[in-house]
Amino acid sequence: MTFKSFHPPVRTLMGPGPSDVNPRVLAAMSRPTIGHLDPVFVDMMDEMKGLLQYAFQTRNALTLPVSAPGSAGMETCFVNLVQPGDTVVVCANGVFGGRMKENVERCGATPVMVEDEWGKPVDPQKLEDALKAHPQASTVAFVHAETSTGACSDVKTLTDIAHRHGCLVIVDSVTGLGGVELRVDDWGVDAIYSGSQKCLSCTPGLSPVSFNEAAVERIKSRKHKVQSWFLDLSLVMGYWGGGTKRAYHHTAPINALYALHESLVVLQEEGLENAWARHRAQHEALKAGLDTMGLSMIVAPEHRLPQLNAVKVPAGVDEAAVRKLLLDEFNLEIGAGLGPLAGKVWRIGLMGYGANRKNVLFCLGALETALV
Ligand code: PLP
Repeated sequence: MTFKSFHPPVRTLMGPGPSDVNPRVLAAMSRPTIGHLDPVFVDMMDEMKGLLQYAFQTRNALTLPVSAPGSAGMETCFVNLVQPGDTVVVCANGVFGGRMKENVERCGATPVMVEDEWGKPVDPQKLEDALKAHPQASTVAFVHAETSTGACSDVKTLTDIAHRHGCLVIVDSVTGLGGVELRVDDWGVDAIYSGSQKCLSCTPGLSPVSFNEAAVERIKSRKHKVQSWFLDLSLVMGYWGGGTKRAYHHTAPINALYALHESLVVLQEEGLENAWARHRAQHEALKAGLDTMGLSMIVAPEHRLPQLNAVKVPAGVDEAAVRKLLLDEFNLEIGAGLGPLAGKVWRIGLMGYGANRKNVLFCLGALETALV
């Protein structure tokens, strides 16, 4: 059998991610591949670190893109910071808190779950109570921007509580970074991971991470070898650590890193706070349009993520048929609900490059057509 080249259709991606990629990023990706120890590439890596520090609002020296998707950033945090026998408090208010629990168990540690209803932010009081009940806990993990529901949790408050109880925090900001306020240093976050494919308008497959000094200290004082060779930061640091002595660890995804570099340059050109404001403004516009169509959101206004809008499916509407129509007739992708929200919500993403007026009007118009 002979196969032909693959030519995907041109879609508008307004689901939970991946989001529309900025054409500048796609163009950057097609530039010539050079060696991953080429001095020109190494200079680009140094710039990348500075750009990521800006995006995360941190001075953390250990700030780098893991060569794999957001789930690998998650694993990088857990396998390096959690050891067998540890107790980790995991706050779960959607799909990704559940995935954190899996990570804790696979590290040989014990998860203590703090559960919140899907669509609600993590409740600080419940975290406080769990830490009082489990004084042996060493780590608290939670999701900043829950993609499965569109709820935003209060990173600073949760981090302060964790620190008062002597714990380090691991924060998932896969959907948060670039779309909503995030200040790693000011908020005292110890370890954080994100993804390239959401509000950074980059292609999927890379996971920016950042670790502060307390987290690095914990990694240095580990008694057990990190169980993952690939994600062991003490080895990865030899390549990403900076300076002239970069050693081969794995072959970096060169062109994907060009793409991430370009997306971060775009972010810097716009300005982080302007990017946050743009996401907010487009969310307000979408919300106004949904209101006129009689559609409502599941998350309370004060906890809503502008970049992920979970919209209630009206009674009697076949939500999958609507998504299919949008895809088939408008080349427009929106997301379905997950877990307890399956069949009950659509998830409309306004992420990065895709958070613009044209997309908002296009989505509202297509949705209205599908619903009449
Ligand atoms: N965490 C959150 C909040 C996410 O939204 C996602 C992906 O959607 C992930 C983790 C996992 O990222 P990836 O799919 O890139 O592995």
